[in-house]
Amino acid sequence: MENPNPPNRSETWPLIKTTIGEYGQQLPIGFRESGSYNRHFALRAFRFAEEEVIGEIRAKAKGITLGRLVAEILGVLIKEVGPYDFGSMKTLDKVSILNGMHYGDVMYMYLWARLEAIGPEVPFVLDCPLCRTRNRGVGDMNDLDVTVLDEEAGEEELRVIGHELKHGMTIRGEARHRISIGPMRWAALDTRRLSGSSVLNDAVREITVIRSSIDGAEGVEGSLVLSDTEIRTISKYDKEQLHAVINDKMAGPILIIEHVCEGCGETLYQVMDWTYDSFFRSSRFAAGKN
Ligand SMILES: [Zn+2]
Repeated sequence: MENPNPPNRSETWPLIKTTIGEYGQQLPIGFRESGSYNRHFALRAFRFAEEEVIGEIRAKAKGITLGRLVAEILGVLIKEVGPYDFGSMKTLDKVSILNGMHYGDVMYMYLWARLEAIGPEVPFVLDCPLCRTRNRGVGDMNDLDVTVLDEEAGEEELRVIGHELKHGMTIRGEARHRISIGPMRWAALDTRRLSGSSVLNDAVREITVIRSSIDGAEGVEGSLVLSDTEIRTISKYDKEQLHAVINDKMAGPILIIEHVCEGCGETLYQVMDWTYDSFFRSSRFAAGKN
């Protein structure tokens, strides 16, 4: 099989690129139901009552994983998602439904909850590496990109079968060069690596994404879950390639703020910090000029 080069921006199918503001309140993938997707979700009003419950969750959240924390918070805020009514459901059942959902779908609801609770403004401070200008401003979450699965496409279109590694990996004791990649589920973030101070650490996030995306290898029967030792055998080169392929097939919001430097005109990028404190803090007052 030839090298599956990442497609051009214009050839992103089965994913369609739009913005949060345009796409509105629906899941980027959703639940497959007899040939179409159920993309419905509805949230509760984020009142003081909800904030109080979330405060309790966070107070006892020491050592809890990032994925679990967000799932529990969403468990409080979601009223309905796809075919499920969260109204009278137990926390563990809600968490297990969210864990089984696509990463991008859960992330989208989390973003939407923030948008409804606080509004779309996201303050940023961006130091330009070229001219050293400090850019301060307020981004608009409605302008963030989101990639959604074409309704005509099956979920299997999000899989990559036979991705070729240049250096290979040692999987189940043997060097293997072809792997398959599947869409990441929220459960991937429910890992001990993503708890405490390592939350949102780039290297940790990277290994988590890669590990949870590789779900098969040539010569290995059935679906594959890589061990810690196995994931460490991937080369830097293969890791970078794999990252590009995974990103090209990843549905959901892209949490990157773009800003043109006021000093030199260079486009600057900042990954949004979506930890609860940063995300659900009232932005209107945090974003003073100077
Ligand atoms: Zn600049």
